Amino acid sequence: MAARSATIRRRIIACFVLSGAIIAIGSALGTVQLARSVLADHRVETALNRLGWAARQLEQAYAQGGIEAVRNKLPEIRRTTLALYCGVANPDGTYVAHTIPSRIGEPMESHDGRLQRWGNIQRVRFSSEQGPVEEYRLPLRHRGRFIGTFCMAVRLPSFRALSWQLLRKPALLLAVPLLVTLLGGLWLTRSLGSTAAVIAQLETLADSDAPQANRLVTVRPQDRATIGWNRLVRQLGRGSAAEGTSSVADALKRYQEYRSNEVLNSLPDGIAVTDAAGRVRTANTAFASLVGRSEDQVRGEDIHVLLNLRAHPDVLARFRDEHTLGRQVTAELEEDRGGNVITLRIQRLPLRTGSDEGYLWIVRDVTQQVLAQKMKTQFVYAATHELRTPLSNIRAYAETLALAETLDTAKQREFCNIINSEAMRLEKLIEDLLNLSRLEAAALSLNVGPVDLQRLVEEVITNIRPTVEKKRQKLRVRLPEKYFPATLDKDKIIVTLVNLLGNAVKYTPEEGEIRFEVYQTESHIRFVVEDTGIGIAPEDLPHVFEKFYRSRDPRVAKISGSGIGLALAKEIVELHGGRITVESELNRGTRFTVVLPAVAAS
Ligand code: ATP
Ligand code: MG
Repeated sequence: MAARSATIRRRIIACFVLSGAIIAIGSALGTVQLARSVLADHRVETALNRLGWAARQLEQAYAQGGIEAVRNKLPEIRRTTLALYCGVANPDGTYVAHTIPSRIGEPMESHDGRLQRWGNIQRVRFSSEQGPVEEYRLPLRHRGRFIGTFCMAVRLPSFRALSWQLLRKPALLLAVPLLVTLLGGLWLTRSLGSTAAVIAQLETLADSDAPQANRLVTVRPQDRATIGWNRLVRQLGRGSAAEGTSSVADALKRYQEYRSNEVLNSLPDGIAVTDAAGRVRTANTAFASLVGRSEDQVRGEDIHVLLNLRAHPDVLARFRDEHTLGRQVTAELEEDRGGNVITLRIQRLPLRTGSDEGYLWIVRDVTQQVLAQKMKTQFVYAATHELRTPLSNIRAYAETLALAETLDTAKQREFCNIINSEAMRLEKLIEDLLNLSRLEAAALSLNVGPVDLQRLVEEVITNIRPTVEKKRQKLRVRLPEKYFPATLDKDKIIVTLVNLLGNAVKYTPEEGEIRFEVYQTESHIRFVVEDTGIGIAPEDLPHVFEKFYRSRDPRVAKISGSGIGLALAKEIVELHGGRITVESELNRGTRFTVVLPAVAAS
């Protein structure tokens, strides 16, 4: 494969060197031709410009000193006009003066075929020993009489001589274009290198009847095509790694299975497929971790053993019962995992694909749900029991007040106060129960209206201050400098903030510090409640907003609470279209942040 790729690369380089050379030679020839025509034009133009001037000089010389003066003038004219030669022929066409002395007395050549005329100027083009020549002829006059013909020759630059002259500067003509194309070629080869490697691998695939997936390799990513190729190779690699297969077709099939496994593995529930006897054919990662094994360790094992059903004979009996074999069965069992008791809900569904029979098992950790259910039952039980105490107190004191004939006013006031505070206790209990039932039925609704945020915050602080003082904690408050109008359900926001501050006080030891911060912009309100208390363990943190959830921390168990405060707070905040978040570090403290839109969503 590497040899193929190198051959392709060599071919590309050769192509570029060849085309570089052709371009270089072509540009050299073109430059010579261009230089030649520019030079020729320049010389002809100079000659033509000076032709008239030379003729007038000669006519003047003739007027002053006859043909002898003309003869003397000619060398000066040749020098000035840069001509190859100059001559003057008499009206018969015989040279009477010439810069080449041997031509004097010879006839002027006639070049009929190559003669061109512009007015009284004639031009003849012919080849001489010194290369191509252009000769210009012009009649000379004296007092209106034709006295002879002036001729002047210009040598045209020879192609060969010019090429030689220019080629002596190779950097200009050959090296520069050659270098440019070579560099371009190298750059292109480099950038085509990955494509060449892909082509080479595709050629190998074309030559093979059963192409091997593991022989395909990724290339340096350069463009979308090579990126796409790399992706394909990686996917094939995964497919073949899954089962150790190496054919491309198998690898593709494996890849499909790999994708389905990926979906299964992303599910939080444990999923396993077994044969009719209960041997595991396939299982996802969640299943393996629920039974405390690796994925490889569960394949082929008896699911009853993996789920430790022998330790739960009643559950095992249900799964083994003849009547349940073709039906869906659900059972729950408790397992001790290193001191932690977890509850697993196991569901078994019959699977029939063609003649093949088996079961689909879904295993879910329902510890939290079971715990929440227990807590709820306990809460309702405790609350109903607690209702009795204030009620009987109220009855007893009310009866005493009604029946006692001689009771001083101080005593009467004391009894009334007791009745009042017991009624308040009742009210709080009933409020808790109501909140719970509203939460359960998802029937909490808001009663929004314009709110004076400053007064709301003051009410919250007044409410919480006595409990803070009782525990000799420090309450630090930060309030906005400016308040903007807000539209909220005032009572429910007070409940939320009192719950958060109540928790901060409850879960912070005496003399700890509680921070309550309020920030407001025109569009949002942010409350921050922070404490230096016991903190929340990372494993409890995601659950604190669940109903009846209380941290497993033994310090929490000692503090009374039912686990609905934060669930209620979250529900209220979300009904307003806001967000509540928590950050905490065990033994360092906790921070709750509530962000609300200034105008509630409902
Ligand atoms: P209640 O319903 O009477 O408020 P609760 O305080 O136990 O009872 P939540 O307010 O919902 O219930 O709190 C749930 C759990 O979150 C608490 O039991 C506690 O474990 C944890 N928690 C809440 N706030 C704090 C805090 N500031 N510091 C440490 N733990 C906290
Ligand atoms: Mg609470």
